[in-house]
Amino acid sequence: MKRSALVCGAGGFIGHHLVQRLKAEGAYVRGVDLKAPDFSRSAADEFLYLDLRDAAQAQAAIDVPFDEVYQLAADMGGAGYLFSGENDAAVMHNSALINLNVLEAARRTRPDRLFFASSACVYPRANQTGPQQFTCAENTVYPADPDSDYGWEKLFAERLYMAFARNTGITCRIARYHNVFGPEGTWQGGREKAPAALCRKVATAQDGGSIEIWGSGEQVRSFLYVDECVEGTLRLMRSDIEQPLNLGSACGISINALAELIADIAGKRLQLLHRAGPVGVHYRRSDNTQIRALLGWAPGESLRPGLEKTYAWIAGQMDQADGPR
Ligand code: NAD
Repeated sequence: MKRSALVCGAGGFIGHHLVQRLKAEGAYVRGVDLKAPDFSRSAADEFLYLDLRDAAQAQAAIDVPFDEVYQLAADMGGAGYLFSGENDAAVMHNSALINLNVLEAARRTRPDRLFFASSACVYPRANQTGPQQFTCAENTVYPADPDSDYGWEKLFAERLYMAFARNTGITCRIARYHNVFGPEGTWQGGREKAPAALCRKVATAQDGGSIEIWGSGEQVRSFLYVDECVEGTLRLMRSDIEQPLNLGSACGISINALAELIADIAGKRLQLLHRAGPVGVHYRRSDNTQIRALLGWAPGESLRPGLEKTYAWIAGQMDQADGPR
């Protein structure tokens, strides 16, 4: 029997890649989203345009007992969208509704397994703002104090999925993604993340010119290439691990160093100009002790190969948009 999978958020960046991987494995895949993927056609067998904030539409999405349901739909964006404060109410309201509706629909049709995409943003701000450089070990999440309302909603949803698993007996798996990047991610418009924004800025700049960086650029993050994110998602989904696990790179890099690495990939010498802007916490990177111990696997690819593919893809998108240069 073919494995059947539902991907909620299949029109989004990670969901689109996940659908491709599930199809490559031979699964029957239903994708659900408000919109189609932005840059290429979905590989899903069926793609339903549904608004998961609406309970009836969530039930239409999960109307049969899938083997696997991946819940990646969320009101989402990069720092400019999530940390400006202007979208907090919408982010919490929309994503909470999606999660509540998906779980109620799942309660009715009882999929074998349910996956929820949480975030590194659940970790407390105090551990990430001081001079000490804490990694995000899973057990440091409480006492809770996420630095954004996006993070608070993710933490609430983690608890919701865990309570749902306990009370219904339906298997739930939760990953805390840390800054996922790669081709076919948003690269302009305000919702793009740092790697894509920096690739765009570097591709736009003349050799010997400059690019703008938000804040001091000393804030540290770790970045996970999308193929590794999908690999870890499938491994965790099919494991017996009940607790939320980090899914990120353990290699921290400052935004300044990331910009320099991308400039090096592009073969350009660029000056970094620092400007005020939303930057989030000072230091955050994945602690992979648990995932390595429990899953016997952790993301391992170095940053550069993924950035090379991402830079080439974004530069190609810009060429297409501009016509011949
Ligand atoms: P994305 O924004 O590209 O994808 C999310 C998708 O959800 C979008 O296509 C959007 O249209 C869809 N969606 C939003 N509201 C919906 C609704 N009401 N009904 C149906 N679909 C709706 O984001 P992504 O980067 O692919 O992230 C996927 C998941 O992983 C999200 O839950 C996100 O919070 C989580 N996450 C991502 C990262 C990252 O670095 N990309 C990091 C941490 C957590």
